[in-house]
Amino acid sequence: MKRDYYEVLGVAKNASSDEIKKSYRKVAMQYHPDRNPGDKSAEEKFKEAAEAYEVLSDSEKRAQYDRYGHAGLGTNGRGFGGMNTEDIFSQFGDIFGDDIFGSFFGGGNRRGGGGRARGVRGSNLRVKLKLNFEEIAKGVSKNIKVKKYVVCSTCGGNGAKDKGSVQTCHTCGGSGQVRRVSNTFLGQMQTVTTCPTCNGEGTTVTTKCQVCKGEGRIYGEETVTIDIPAGVQDGMQLSVGGRGNAGERGGPAGDLIILVEEEQHPELHRDGLNVAFELHLSFTDAVFGTQVEVPTIDGKAKIKIPAGTQSGKIFRLKGKGFPGVNSYEKGDQLIHVNLWTPQNLTQEEKSMLEKLGSSPNFQPKPDKNERSFFDKVREMFSS
Ligand SMILES: [Zn+2]
Ligand SMILES: [Zn+2]
Repeated sequence: MKRDYYEVLGVAKNASSDEIKKSYRKVAMQYHPDRNPGDKSAEEKFKEAAEAYEVLSDSEKRAQYDRYGHAGLGTNGRGFGGMNTEDIFSQFGDIFGDDIFGSFFGGGNRRGGGGRARGVRGSNLRVKLKLNFEEIAKGVSKNIKVKKYVVCSTCGGNGAKDKGSVQTCHTCGGSGQVRRVSNTFLGQMQTVTTCPTCNGEGTTVTTKCQVCKGEGRIYGEETVTIDIPAGVQDGMQLSVGGRGNAGERGGPAGDLIILVEEEQHPELHRDGLNVAFELHLSFTDAVFGTQVEVPTIDGKAKIKIPAGTQSGKIFRLKGKGFPGVNSYEKGDQLIHVNLWTPQNLTQEEKSMLEKLGSSPNFQPKPDKNERSFFDKVREMFSS
């Protein structure tokens, strides 16, 4: 069931076009994928809002919708399901383009400055990349296959059948701009705008390239090598300039945005730069001391457990954690000691333990020199 477009944008049925624009901007900002990475429902809401805005911002479509509802839009009311969010931006770029909110959004077709522009900029592309602990700790170079628009190799991206099919634009003489003089109550005003014939490109194509239908790009695949720096974290985004979708008719490519996903380690846990490991020791190993092998980010490490080790003790392997992504800092590996209490005992084991239980050495005698947690807290508040 499709939601009511007015409800989607949170405006009244008689809202002005300005109110609709404002509300759309608000909703789109809230659910923009850049602010909600990996959130599918936010992306759906974002698309839903774009669809609602497309209809309500067009007075003709809005009238149709007011009278007949969703059914009234027929084939014009196409959904945005098949579009990616960047495509939506290229369509609505203008409403975000010229204010402070614009800086939140990457991609789109916005052109700086004016003057001649080649083609249309390609959209940004977002891919997820799973990395394991070792790759994160050391940094890694990954080759990933990306499905995207690539430059049409037949025409080299200009969209023309051959060299002779590219002509200087007659309207603007190749400058990509036209001047318009208009009479206003303040006198004559001259404005410079993008040439409507060539869209500012300065050239027009008479016969289109057959392979790309004049678009200058085709849907394909590219293997991209990505150098991941050491120390990245789950949810971080890395932007690779110019490796997103190829632009139309030779326009610059968008960016490739890599969303880092951390693969869970079967035994280690990440805590910022540190790595934690839960070591389970048998009662006898803790009493007599032993040597154990523990996993670390890069292989096994042997550590010595001294005789009489208490449960809760933390051993620290200095520098065995993650490096900071933007610093020379390095984390440690912390090994938490857990004493394993036997849960199923034979009759013989029970009677042996019962004998030991009454021995004075088995009564807890916490070390007086080792200040307890409570002592430390008390000290902190009394000084
Ligand atoms: Zn082509
Ligand atoms: Zn022109």
